[in-house]
Amino acid sequence: MTQSRRSFLKTAAAVAAASLADRRSAFAATNAANPGILNQFDYRDVELLEGPLRQQFDTKHASYLGLDEDSLLKPFRQRAGLTAPGDEMGGWYSWAPLGDLDKPGDNGFAPGHSFGQYLSGLARDYATTGDKATQEKVQRLVANLAPAVSAKFWEGNRFPAYTYDKLSIGLLDAHQFAGDPQALKVLDAVLDSVLPHLPPRGISRAEQYARPHSDDSFCWDEPYTLPENFLIAFERGAGSRYRDLAKRFLADDWYFDPLAAGQNVLPGKHAYSHVNAMSSAMKAYLMLGSEKHLRAAQNGFEYVRAQSFATGGWGPDEQFREPGSGEMGESLSKTHSSFETPCGSYAHFKLTRYLTRATRDSRYGDSMERVLYNCILGVKPIQHDGHGFYYSDYNRVGSKVYHPYKWHCCTGTFAQVTADYGISSYFHDDRGIYINLYVPSRVKWKHGAERISLTQQTNYPHHPTTQITVSTDRPSAFPVSLRIPAWAGAKTTVAVNGKQVLNGPEPGKFARLDRTWKNGDRIEVEFEMATTLEAVDAQHPTLMAPVHGPLALFSVGAIPEKIGRRELLAASQIAAGSTDWQASTGAGNLTLRPFTAIQDEHYRLYLDVNG
Ligand SMILES: [Zn+2]
Repeated sequence: MTQSRRSFLKTAAAVAAASLADRRSAFAATNAANPGILNQFDYRDVELLEGPLRQQFDTKHASYLGLDEDSLLKPFRQRAGLTAPGDEMGGWYSWAPLGDLDKPGDNGFAPGHSFGQYLSGLARDYATTGDKATQEKVQRLVANLAPAVSAKFWEGNRFPAYTYDKLSIGLLDAHQFAGDPQALKVLDAVLDSVLPHLPPRGISRAEQYARPHSDDSFCWDEPYTLPENFLIAFERGAGSRYRDLAKRFLADDWYFDPLAAGQNVLPGKHAYSHVNAMSSAMKAYLMLGSEKHLRAAQNGFEYVRAQSFATGGWGPDEQFREPGSGEMGESLSKTHSSFETPCGSYAHFKLTRYLTRATRDSRYGDSMERVLYNCILGVKPIQHDGHGFYYSDYNRVGSKVYHPYKWHCCTGTFAQVTADYGISSYFHDDRGIYINLYVPSRVKWKHGAERISLTQQTNYPHHPTTQITVSTDRPSAFPVSLRIPAWAGAKTTVAVNGKQVLNGPEPGKFARLDRTWKNGDRIEVEFEMATTLEAVDAQHPTLMAPVHGPLALFSVGAIPEKIGRRELLAASQIAAGSTDWQASTGAGNLTLRPFTAIQDEHYRLYLDVNG
């Protein structure tokens, strides 16, 4: 654990208390229910411009737009006794006898589980792009799902809570973002059908094991993640029974109460779903005003951060570990399943968005950008037959691979997390704008009568700079707050129209530029990015990963058994803006590159460092 992580942990509670008190007095209410909470932009307000995020978004959008609708609907139609044309999708997605689980491909593991996530991703893609064909596909899927909703779908289903949770966000997004007229009615029908199959409250996996079950896989459902989407349903007008269910499923007794009290109950728990559950705590804070749940999410996030890899990823073999056990370091030789990347990134992005909005603490954005550049942006695109990227591999001999199982969980969250890049990049309050991610993009909004947009052009983090151009009908006064990462050095500068306005802004805070902006004004930020070494855990202090700014550097090619600390710290880009780095070692030159630049070559994240 590095010094910065440790000090972050220590100050978290104080920060939480202070920021809550501060913002109540310092900021005018942005909405009646949540004074001081930063707002998200609408999907259509943020456009990704040419660059790696836009490329991944477009490729993903085209893939999911091409999904066969009859195949998607098949598991639902089959159980409803309807004609079910189209090919089986296979893998996790189709019904198969339970015994088939032993066959390669994990056939029939979770029928129809990701339908809602594909629907949600497409609805958000429509909201972002305005592409009519995408909206029509969403509406056709909802219209054809309606007659296929049946109680039989849940019989013998391992994951009623998980599958319902995903279906619900799909239908809610179809309603909200794709203007679907009947999605909320279909949601009601789905809820009616699943309720008899849900546990009475958000029980833990241990409690699931204590109940009668046909095999272990029936104990892995995730009812403790339900409240977030129940609350979103209530918020979007689905009715008060959703709010009541949310309260009932909040896992206070075994999860949120101990987390809020500062007790780390994560070790041994399934990683992704318990981070995802923290978003339920945040939604409970935002909608029900429960400060306890804010504390639970903040503390929980710190426990996750304290056992994260240098990439920002967490949970080797999908499990949280006992602090001080050395298991993070041991995982580097024991497993290739180091971080469940699309699911984990989706949960991480969602949670850090909530936390940034609630606390205005920019360090949640620092954490989000680590996961962006070192994890999700580097995954392989989904293949037509349903093979997708699942685990990042931080083993000593690591590589990027497609998972052998088709249509697994990560094919669902991949559709969603990539759809959310735009809304993760900027936030606003009723006065001004917060720039959270330095990505090529344009954000637009109305400030009083003025139409304003900011256009960001950057090759960050490969170049340590970004340029933001203001467009406005007439001069307009509002603050622009820039996230200054906690790693930023003292030589970081902010200039407006070529004139330096901030010299060495405080790292780990938003830097605020409050002025009257004219059309064509240009903000230029140059970050001082240093290279540091991060040990995998305290029990393996010499196993270290080089990190430059937000970027973890992976070694490729011939890797020496040992490398000197000074040699590694002196690694530099082979040319300005390049994705290839070089360190000279006693054994010759070592090449390093970020996760996004790695293709099929073997790599190693943690090196044995001496000196
Ligand atoms: Zn997954």
